[in-house]
Amino acid sequence: MFRQTALGGLAAALLASTALADPVAITGVRLIDGTGADPVENAVIVIEDGVITAAGADVDVPEGADIRDHDGATVIPGLISAHNHVGMVDGMDAGGHNYTREIIEGELAQYRRYGVTTTTSLGNNPTLFLEIREDAQAGRLDGADLYGTYQGIGAPDGAPPIDVTDDQIHRPRTADEARAAVDGMAEAGGDLVKIWMDDLHGDAERLTPEVYTAVIETAHGHGLRVAAHVHDLEEAEAMIAAGADILAHGIRDAEVSASFAAELAERGTWYIPTLQLDEATFVWADAPDWTEEPFVRAGMHPDLIATVEQADWREATLGEDGTDRARQALAMNQRNLAILHQAGVPIGFGTDSGATPLRVIGVAEHRELELMVEAGLSPMDALVIATADSARLLDLDDRGTLEPGRRADLVILSGNPLDDIANTRTIVEVWQRGEAVSSEIAAQEE
Ligand SMILES: [Zn+2]
Repeated sequence: MFRQTALGGLAAALLASTALADPVAITGVRLIDGTGADPVENAVIVIEDGVITAAGADVDVPEGADIRDHDGATVIPGLISAHNHVGMVDGMDAGGHNYTREIIEGELAQYRRYGVTTTTSLGNNPTLFLEIREDAQAGRLDGADLYGTYQGIGAPDGAPPIDVTDDQIHRPRTADEARAAVDGMAEAGGDLVKIWMDDLHGDAERLTPEVYTAVIETAHGHGLRVAAHVHDLEEAEAMIAAGADILAHGIRDAEVSASFAAELAERGTWYIPTLQLDEATFVWADAPDWTEEPFVRAGMHPDLIATVEQADWREATLGEDGTDRARQALAMNQRNLAILHQAGVPIGFGTDSGATPLRVIGVAEHRELELMVEAGLSPMDALVIATADSARLLDLDDRGTLEPGRRADLVILSGNPLDDIANTRTIVEVWQRGEAVSSEIAAQEE
């Protein structure tokens, strides 16, 4: 009896606190709502219980509202990454042994501080992932919300070429092994199935058609969509023909044809360019001014800062074959993004940040926006891709835009990103589920 009463009392208290919570109103802002609609000046955003109830210029501030005036600031939806990784890196150390709750919670906090309120760990996730994902989605963690794929399917002696533990990946040799692996992953949980299709610049065997066809068919049988790691056009074509739903990287060896673009658009295949991935290979060695900004340094592990400040490391990096290859890959990736976006292919937002020490969580996402604009997309296009479109890619209809009924995951900026996309770095506050959860990252240099 006592137990029942206590529970009843707790439930009543929770209900009461919910019912009595005052609405919050963010006032005086330029609203970029993520739908691609023109920005609204002097807008009001009303939030109740973590959800937006009204947003626009003609919105009345409700009586008793907690008013947060941000006159002259710009508000965008929280960024949504559809391709990154967690638990792979600790400073300059990379590998599956970094898959710990402590490291991952730190990474999720960093994503959120940089305005990425939802992330997707696309592969190499052992069982611990399922637990952390559940905690994140229930709002029990101080960090970005987390989606992703349990484990993944790689080639027996090939991609991914990274140090992962046996419980992070399957490397099936036959269709039967592939089906068993996908059955096991689907039963455990996760949002998508990840497959690696890459000959690593000709150095490794790719998955065979027998195996990848079995993976995709089995995943679809479980109602799970398949995200395919690809690098070359030939790999992307094979994945499309076999029915993959998402190309998780841009095509970087050759320009795509108009017919290929039309096919992706018609099938509605998602394309996540991950432009920053190749830039990360050389940019710390090139060391342009932005790499030294406080906003960027604040996201870098001290060991990474110590590394990139060594002149001999920078020189050695610039001399590597992979560096020139990465520059060419980035240029081709940007060209293909422009073609595919123009053709109406749905584009997702992701960087592969967190997969290696040089791909800096949060920083990579702001650079990705700049690289998309450099490729020819408008700042508005880039923002829609990084918010509403990536929510759609993840099948999340509760976030991604600042419209009534959506979660109040948002970023308040002092600068206008439509004037200069680099203004997404002028973070004043990040909000998640209707609460301000962090403020300015580091003072910006003039
Ligand atoms: Zn990846």
